[in-house]
Amino acid sequence: MDAAAGRTESDAPGQPVLGSLEAEVVGLARDLIRMDTSNPPGNETPAAEFLAGYLREAGIEVELTGTDPARLNLIARIPGTGEGPSLMLMAHTDVVPAPPTNWTVPPFDATLRDGYLIGRGAVDMKNELAARAVAMANFARSGVRPRGDLVLVAESDEERNTADVGMSWLVRERPDLKCDFALNEGGGQLLELANGRQVMTVSVGEKKVTSLRVRIKGVSAHASVPDRENNTLLSVSKAIQNLNSHDFELQVSDSVRASLDAIGAPPGEDSQRLAWMAAQHPVLADLLPVMTRMTITPTGLATFEPSNVIPPFADITCDCRALPGQSEDEVRRHLAEAIGEGIDYEVEFLEPLEGGYESPTETGLWAICEDYLEERCPGATLLPMITPGFTDSHWVRQAFGTVAYGMAPVIATDVNIYLDSMHGADERLMVADLVDMAEFHLFVLNRFAAA
Ligand SMILES: [Zn+2]
Repeated sequence: MDAAAGRTESDAPGQPVLGSLEAEVVGLARDLIRMDTSNPPGNETPAAEFLAGYLREAGIEVELTGTDPARLNLIARIPGTGEGPSLMLMAHTDVVPAPPTNWTVPPFDATLRDGYLIGRGAVDMKNELAARAVAMANFARSGVRPRGDLVLVAESDEERNTADVGMSWLVRERPDLKCDFALNEGGGQLLELANGRQVMTVSVGEKKVTSLRVRIKGVSAHASVPDRENNTLLSVSKAIQNLNSHDFELQVSDSVRASLDAIGAPPGEDSQRLAWMAAQHPVLADLLPVMTRMTITPTGLATFEPSNVIPPFADITCDCRALPGQSEDEVRRHLAEAIGEGIDYEVEFLEPLEGGYESPTETGLWAICEDYLEERCPGATLLPMITPGFTDSHWVRQAFGTVAYGMAPVIATDVNIYLDSMHGADERLMVADLVDMAEFHLFVLNRFAAA
């Protein structure tokens, strides 16, 4: 959709309302949502160009770069004196497609209703992109020279990550983007625990990810005289059931122990402490099993014979997420345990098992985030989490050793609405959270400037 569609005269693009952080961040987020960057195909360049205009007006050096003219990345930099650590604010400009079914408003209109901003990208992640850009612009207008460089990267192709035009390309081609610290998506939800405490999630790492082809082998036969005991597809069915019901081995990493300590889990066996933590909030009950276990999930099936032949083999494709530190050998071992005896199979890794980087929490950026939270939500604690999904934090952790956290405060929006509407219908965020996100990033930039 054309970015200018559905506008009124006073609502023109490129004219953020200055003077109020709320008006500025809401205006920018709406402008960005109105640019349809559904991936595929992406077409992120208009959003990057628009953002470039906004940041240049605030006096920031901006560059658009990339290999595909339709899918450029934005790099904005406020140069520091070199005396302090550098910080990158990251946000992808693409969004997942928004089939209009189940939406109550057009997905690219950026509707304001009942205190919410509704539209594709309102949660993932034109909200955070706008908040980070507005914080950069406000910092730049203050005229303060920071000690370390402050960099904003708005990258393309995060949602599919197949074209090698976004962050994977940037970290390879632009070593000058190496920063000590980074803030990105993946956390910031404020959870009210059963014990009355409040925690805010921070993503400090991600699981390793690959996909597997599990070839189940049998004996080819004519289907006209069926052997009820021996049919390759019977083995496939058993393998899928076994995979689905298998309890993958529990592994409690140092970062999960850090989460248990941060949340105040009473001392005891790991399994008891995890059960206690899971009982504190439904979101934790969902996430803890995947933070402490490998998952191998069947997602596809294929056979290669005409319908009158019992096939000699059939392929199950599986999504596989391993914990940081787990190897391909461990994937093979877990797969064998899960599939069980009596099923003949071989496995092929369709991609190398990649990722699994974690950032430490004993850092200056962590301390700044703690200070912010204490000011905004006194008594609340940061909760380090390993995310089962993938974000572009992976690339900067892997290439540069950057300490990257996923955090943008979500305080007013109900966490279920936030999580359920991400990639779903009526994607929405309370406007109050957009303001908190902008204020949080400005808080961090000001602290970094003085660090
Ligand atoms: Zn995202």
